[in-house]
Amino acid sequence: MSERTFSIIKPDAVRKGVTAAILAQIEEAGFKIVAIKRASISRAQAEGFYAVHAGKPFFAGLTEFMSSGPIFPMVLEKENAIADLRKLMGATNPAQAEEGTIRKKYAESIGENAIHGSDGEETATFEIGYFFAGIELK
Ligand code: ATP
Ligand code: MG
Repeated sequence: MSERTFSIIKPDAVRKGVTAAILAQIEEAGFKIVAIKRASISRAQAEGFYAVHAGKPFFAGLTEFMSSGPIFPMVLEKENAIADLRKLMGATNPAQAEEGTIRKKYAESIGENAIHGSDGEETATFEIGYFFAGIELK
């Protein structure tokens, strides 16, 4: 059955001008782009999005980075979308990411790692709702 996941092209990738290259790789892997927009989020909005990480040592850096420039939040659809996007992204730390993955190709560091992908069904539902209204998701 087809499944939806949530993703963000992060500020480092947008600054580098690799948004379209990443989108092409996502489409080539069989994902349908259900919704996408350009957005800039505040520090508080980034803190709300990453609330599960509040209190961790990297939280301040992460939320500062995610609010440092434009991002492209999007909803993707395909069979097994959640797990398959995580595979396509590669490991959180690009130094450990497999060859050919998005993070291996485009990410600089564990803190600035090009792309976000939901890690489970509940997270995907929360994250899609954080950025998109139901009317945008037909
Ligand atoms: P994301 O949630 O962005 O898709 P992820 O699921 O691979 O990434 P998480 O464990 O959810 O990784 O961490 C969220 C983000 O916090 C990571 O993408 C990374 O940028 C940052 N982060 C995680 N661990 C560290 C760390 N040890 N040092 C610096 N930043 C980190
Ligand atoms: Mg995560």
